[in-house]
Order: sequence, then C-alpha cells, then structure tokens
Amino acid sequence: MSIDSNVSAIYEKLIKRNAGEPEFHQAVAEVFDSLGIVLRKDPHYLEDNLIERLCEPERQLIFRVPWVDDQGRVHINRGFRVQFNSALGPYKGGLRFHPSVNLGIIKFLGFEQIFKNSLTGLPIGGGKGGSDFDPKGKSDMEIMRFCQSFMTELFRHIGEYRDVPAGDIGVGGREIGYLFGQYRRLANNHESGVLTGKGLTWGGSLVRTEATGYGLVYFTLEMLRAHRQTMSGAKVTVSGSGNVAIYAIEKAQEMGATVVAFSDSSAWVETPNGVDVELLKEIKEVRRARVSEYVAEAEGAILHTSGSVWDLPCDVALPCATQNELDGDAARTLVANGCKFVAEGANMPSTAEAIDVFRANGIHFAPGKASNAGGVATSALEMQQNASRDSWTFEYTDDRLHKIMSNIFKNLDRTAKEYDHEHDYVVGANIAGFKKVADAMIHQGII
Ligand code: NDP
Repeated sequence: MSIDSNVSAIYEKLIKRNAGEPEFHQAVAEVFDSLGIVLRKDPHYLEDNLIERLCEPERQLIFRVPWVDDQGRVHINRGFRVQFNSALGPYKGGLRFHPSVNLGIIKFLGFEQIFKNSLTGLPIGGGKGGSDFDPKGKSDMEIMRFCQSFMTELFRHIGEYRDVPAGDIGVGGREIGYLFGQYRRLANNHESGVLTGKGLTWGGSLVRTEATGYGLVYFTLEMLRAHRQTMSGAKVTVSGSGNVAIYAIEKAQEMGATVVAFSDSSAWVETPNGVDVELLKEIKEVRRARVSEYVAEAEGAILHTSGSVWDLPCDVALPCATQNELDGDAARTLVANGCKFVAEGANMPSTAEAIDVFRANGIHFAPGKASNAGGVATSALEMQQNASRDSWTFEYTDDRLHKIMSNIFKNLDRTAKEYDHEHDYVVGANIAGFKKVADAMIHQGII
C-alpha cells in the first residue's frame, strides 16, 4: 500500500494528531491508498480541506461506566461513542463490548462505517461506540447492570434522527434488549428507531440476526460469478463463530459449499465434512460455550490449538472474527494452498501486508466495508419499518438484503473499471464510498 503524494501531508499530520491509534491510522491509510486515483481525475476534492474534515470525527464522547457485580463490588469501565460523519444521515454503527476496546479502535471502526454506510445506498451516516467491558463469564444480571449504566450516559446523545447504535462484538440481542429498556425508561418514550437489532416483538426486523453473514455470502456469490465460479462445491474457510460467522456458514452451506473450518479465540476447528450449524448455534448462541464443546459432540470435527484456520486449503476464505486476524504469512499460506477469493466479514481483518499479498497474487479480495455491509443495511431496513410502524416478512426483507448486496458489488465493479482498476474491489469500494459522502459534504458547506 502507498499513500499518494496529494494526501501524504494530511496523513502525516493525522498520525501526529492521533498518536497511539494504529488501527485508526491503518483504516485511513487503506482509504488514502485509493484516493490518489480519484484525486488525479477529480482534484476539486482537495479543496476546502475536505479530506482533513472527513478524517476528524464530528464528535467524540468518552464517559465513565460504573457498575456493581453480583458480589457487590464496584467496577469502572470506559464508554465511547464516536459520531464520525452525518452528511448522509443520522450516525449509524454498532457498539462493541470487548476488553481490547479503546478510542483508536472505535475511531477506525467509525471511519470505516462512513464508507460502508455510503455504499449501502441508504441514508445513514457513520458512527461507532462501545466499551472495554468484557461480557465473558458475566451473569445476565451483571450484563444488565452494565448496559443500564452505559445507557444512562449514552441516552442523551442518541435518537432516531441523531444517532442509532446497534450490536457488534459482545453486543447481541440480549444486550440490545437491556440497552433499549434503559433508554425507554430514561427518555419516557418508546422511540423504537433509536437502536437496531431489537427483539421481534418490540420493533426488531426479521433477517437482522442473519444479515451480516448472509449478506457476506450474497456479495461473495456475485464476486465468484464475475469470475465464472460458483459457491456450489467450493471449500470455504471461516474464522470466528459469532454472529457474522454462524450465518455466513449457514448461507454458504445452503448454497452447496463445504465449510471446512471455523474458530473462536480459544482454538480452531477443522470440519472436513462441513459444519453442523444447528449444533454450532446451540453451543454459541444458547450455551455461550467454547468451540471444544462442538468437537466433543460433532462427528469428524478436529480441534486445533496451534496454527490457524488459514492453514487449510480452501477456495474461498471468509475472515469473520476481528481486526488484523489475517496477516502477511497467513495470506501467503492461502495463496500457496490455492485460495482464489477472500471476502471480509469482520471489519479490517486483513493486515495491510496481507492485502498486498492478495493483490500481488491475483486473489480476488473484497474489503469489509463492502462485503459486510449487509448488517447495517438491514439495520436501515429496520429503521424504515419502525418509521412506518410496519413489519416485513422474512422473504421480503431477505430479498431486499440480497438486492442491496448485489448492487454494492455492481457499484464496486463499475467504479473500479471507471478508474482503470478493473477487479480491484478495494479501489472500487473506497472510491464509490468516498465520492458520495464527499459530494454531500461539499453541498452542505463547511461545517
Ligand atoms: P461476536 O461477538 O458475535 O463474535 C466474534 C467472534 O470472533 C467470536 O467467535 C470471537 O471468539 C472471535 N473473536 C473476537 N475477538 C477475537 C480475537 N481478538 N481473537 C480471536 N478471535 C476473536 O461478533 P460479530 O460476529 O458480531 O462480529 C465479528 C466481526 O464482524 C467484527 O469485526 C465486527 O466488527 C464485524 N461486523 C459485525 C457486524 C454485525 O452485524 N454483527 C456487522 C459488520 C461487521 P470469542 O468468543 O472466543 O471471543
């Protein structure tokens, strides 16, 4: 990756002003890598410090989250909400609860979210939030008390037309429930459009749970078709076994692929005969247990505690766990083992070096800001249903999701061609996502 000379000074300044935030620097560098191409053709985007403005969040909130555990001990966590850009619509993006969360991680996620939301074609701006709280091993009551304390500060900053958070790592249906309950109580208002990922009886949308994983596979299918390949009969490797991974596995297998591996942070599992999705859901969604339990109960599954899912030969790799989980060495192993397609389900799971390896070796690579946009797109469909007091069927919503993902792929493909980088989906995603937001910012003046 290389930063174009038109934006290198902006990048240097950004690193100094945002010291100690390497993930944020990496996410900006990935976009700047493509900006040189667009700036040579459309230099007016350099006017009025537009690019510097785009890299500076509109608002960054950091707050104390005190909560009491089951033994009566008081704990203090840190809460974040970065409201990055609202040129296209209210801030929209998930909340992450994980001990690794810090301001730089939330800024990288919020920055990516701007372009992702732009690519969906729906009227949503970019934001992200979360906490360094670790939900692992906590009781339901501890999770509830934490969520209530978190929302006690956040509630004054969000709203249907202002900022609409959702889930991410460590935040699923249970947490959204507790967060919404506390919002409703504090605001004295059943404003269902304030959060997405809600339960189906109180404003949630069918398909939201499945959306990121299904959307990833719909996108991947389009990419495969563009290169005259199909999902049927393909060997697919997935990392993670959370929300995104489970539904990517389900949809890929429904389309006739064999998923040969998945993982969690404790180990990875080789599944030469495919994954028993119902068992995986039971272990991860109901029991909240480790992947070793899957191996104990599934026939033919093999547990590995060294190496990674990327060691196995596959046709398609879908990283669905976390940032920077697939490095240059893993990318070289994938190349050597004949992998032809990589589509990111997680946000920025591939390091900059890994992306360079994919590009240099003809692997077709889809960045997460395009291929995992199905989750936020379906969140925007949930907002539409809330606004019209309606609820759509599974088939209708799934069909809308499928069309959105196909359109995102076509937009990337077209944009990459227009800028003389055919099949470079990084360039396609960055330029298509950027131009829409940049044009809206120009129309709205210097704010
Ligand atoms: P979950 O919390 O449901 O699952 C995360 C999975 O990744 C778990 O299997 C977890 O293992 C594993 N994991 C997390 N951190 C690490 C780590 N440091 N090392 C190894 N494994 C890890 O999260 P989601 O499935 O919702 O999110 C996964 C990724 O997808 C994230 O990057 C998220 O930002 C992105 N994403 C999610 C969307 C959504 O709708 N949920 C939308 C778009 C992107 P363990 O349980 O052991 O921690």
